[in-house]
Amino acid sequence: MDQEFLNEMRTRLREEKVRLTETLEHLGVRDQTVRNKEDFDPTFPQYGDTEDDNIAEVSDFANTLDAQNRLEKSLEEVDQALGRIAQGTYGICEQCKKPIEVERLKAFPAARMCLTCEKKR
Ligand SMILES: [Zn+2]
Repeated sequence: MDQEFLNEMRTRLREEKVRLTETLEHLGVRDQTVRNKEDFDPTFPQYGDTEDDNIAEVSDFANTLDAQNRLEKSLEEVDQALGRIAQGTYGICEQCKKPIEVERLKAFPAARMCLTCEKKR
């Protein structure tokens, strides 16, 4: 991998990390990183006391948790990709150990597998 390409991917991964972290903060799950904790506490929405209101509350809360899980997983993948750049193993397919397609990395900098292996999953 040439250094220029690695630098570009590192920059993009760092930007992605900032974006994911900020989104998680908005969801109220990264309260340890912000000063005003009260603003970011995960709150169970209260729409009302009727049966329908209660269903909406539970469903919104579940959606938030779902979004949170997906964001945390993405953040983990971005972190791992940054780790691979630091270790010099970035861009190598985890499965077949061949280089991952450059076009694929450009489209998805945190990719861990080449296109062939990804399709086989
Ligand atoms: Zn592969």
